[in-house]
Amino acid sequence: MTDNGLLTRRRFLQAGLTASLLGAGAFALASKGWAAAAEAKPLPSRKPNVPKLLVLDPGHGGRDPGARGASGTLEKDITIDIAQRMADQLRNDKGIIVKLTREDDVFIPLEERVKFGREARADLFLSIHADSAPNKSARGLSVYTLSTKASDSFSKSLADKENEADLMGGMDLPPAPKEVTAILMDLTARQTRNTAQHARATFIRGLSRQWRLLEQPMRSANFVVLRAPDVPSMLIETSFLSNPQDEAILRQPSQRAKIAKLMARTIAAILDSSLFA
Ligand SMILES: [Zn+2]
Repeated sequence: MTDNGLLTRRRFLQAGLTASLLGAGAFALASKGWAAAAEAKPLPSRKPNVPKLLVLDPGHGGRDPGARGASGTLEKDITIDIAQRMADQLRNDKGIIVKLTREDDVFIPLEERVKFGREARADLFLSIHADSAPNKSARGLSVYTLSTKASDSFSKSLADKENEADLMGGMDLPPAPKEVTAILMDLTARQTRNTAQHARATFIRGLSRQWRLLEQPMRSANFVVLRAPDVPSMLIETSFLSNPQDEAILRQPSQRAKIAKLMARTIAAILDSSLFA
């Protein structure tokens, strides 16, 4: 446990299959052979001093333009510009490994984006967007994490599938009975969700005095792109393209550079914090 009573994601994955983590009920499900295997073979994990890996996901692209501002600004163009500026900052100034789900104006299905983040074994997945609302006066930045309900049902449905071994493949867990796999998957998904929620709060605090925020900027929804059970994920709506002032801000390269820099600085601090120890 960490000082704030939270188990960090990395420690959780490292600790993996101990009785204390799983609790007596879950542990009773483990077969002797499997428990012995877990004990004999410590789980591989990324070394403590390796750079953090961030996946940036510029929203939309190709045949999917996303939102369109009154002046004709397309969300897909804004998102990739901000993501690329962020990536430059984080790579050059912060020593963080950054991978982008798309580098060009191409269409990528949402599930592919999630898969990309999982296969990259990202410490954090950030999907970058620009908002649109029927209420034209809505302005400012907001951040979404996956809603609790959605995450639970998703982790359940994942665990129920025949190919669960494949899904668990990226998680460094030794073979285990089906029930144990489902429990581990659920625990991991919860831990991932907690991490994302804490990261969201820190992110909002970090930006609060320097960029306009939506009235209730911490939000949650059942976005497909946030559903990786083992990669903490956030979706950032940088501003509203449906608001003329916000659109005017997003059209300025200097303002896109500003928000990219603010987000890069805040994300670097989050990745450096105990949350991702
Ligand atoms: Zn969008």
